[in-house]
Amino acid sequence: MSLSTLAKSIAESPTLKLNEEAQKLRERGEAVINMGVGEPKNKAPLNAILSSAAKLTTGDIKYSPTDGIPSLKKAILRYTEENYDKIVRPENVIVSSGAKQSLFNLLYTILNPQDEVILLAPYWVSYPEMIKMCWGVPVVVTPEDGRFEPTLAEVEERVSSSTKAIILNSPNNPSGWLYSEELVASLVDFCERRDIYLIMDDIYHKLVFDGRVVPAAYKFTTKDLESSKIVVVNGISKLYGMTGFRIGWCVAPKPIVEVMTNVQVQTTSCTSVVLQAAAEGALNGLQGLVESLRMTMENNRSVIVQELKSFTGVKIVEPRGTFYAFPDFRAYNKSSVELASFLLKKAKVVVVPGKEFGLEGHIRLSFAVTVKDITESIARLKWALDPNSPNEIYIGDRKLVRDWM
Ligand code: PMP
Repeated sequence: MSLSTLAKSIAESPTLKLNEEAQKLRERGEAVINMGVGEPKNKAPLNAILSSAAKLTTGDIKYSPTDGIPSLKKAILRYTEENYDKIVRPENVIVSSGAKQSLFNLLYTILNPQDEVILLAPYWVSYPEMIKMCWGVPVVVTPEDGRFEPTLAEVEERVSSSTKAIILNSPNNPSGWLYSEELVASLVDFCERRDIYLIMDDIYHKLVFDGRVVPAAYKFTTKDLESSKIVVVNGISKLYGMTGFRIGWCVAPKPIVEVMTNVQVQTTSCTSVVLQAAAEGALNGLQGLVESLRMTMENNRSVIVQELKSFTGVKIVEPRGTFYAFPDFRAYNKSSVELASFLLKKAKVVVVPGKEFGLEGHIRLSFAVTVKDITESIARLKWALDPNSPNEIYIGDRKLVRDWM
């Protein structure tokens, strides 16, 4: 079939195939545990539901301004002031269908063909594909010695005259790593000196543990927003557990927002006004639920780390944020794709292969599940892989015997 070469080269979602297989197993009555999910399990905040329901019942659901309804933009300005200590103007904000659309439109807005964008491995799966869709070239920095944080020198080595942007996602999906203040500060300085955009993907920025905080990149610049190279992307998906509402935003210098608005008007016109009302409700409502989600995830993190530390051969760097752990399973299998499919088949646990995040030999485990699912899934992984673990296990109500080692 005749299809676009570029479109054909775009990778499918790594979780899609695994989820389909997991669904088939479930239909056969298997007790599958899904550690592949990238979303908290909580119900949408009441204020978000009420606010969107109120809008819906007016029956007046029409096109709205492309860059977002003024009342939501106002809530985002307040959020930016409170959380980033930065006063920005409505012209600096555009609301999109998820942080994902903001990121795509941003890349589309800044990249010329063959421009390079630096990613730090492990990186979120969608970055390289989005960059390629904008005719750009992803350039990956892989820190040495199993670290998740590169040095500035390691980043600089990969910078060329074609480098247009660096994407930093802190805390990081999939590693849970929180980049140090020193790295963020030096990247801000480096990017401003070299005229390179620093894209901060802050979608998990309040889900951090052990009393740490994510330093706002703005803290390290003396430039005003219009002349700074910092662009921030954020949204309600992760912090409020509102993944299905599809609302995100971008804070950037005015000329960027203007072009992003043109890109958005010619593609999706605007984001649904009902869903924008929900986001406004979430941002203006009680914020205690974000803290309660954070505390639940901190507790889950401690449980999963404890379980993984008692797993012979597995190496784990303690996540400092998000709801993902990214242990190194090379002692059992060097191919994470093979390992993920083996674990689904034998242990009935869905995990995402590290290869998809640019770091082979690791797997991503989401701990946005119950504590019971965390302990049970790690027990199953041990049973499937560790010859020192008991060779019998109950999965659901079936007793299984390990007969492959
Ligand atoms: N950035 C990262 C690092 C993510 O993990 C995700 C969601 N998985 C997004 C952006 C996109 O979020 P949204 O649901 O707002 O599109």
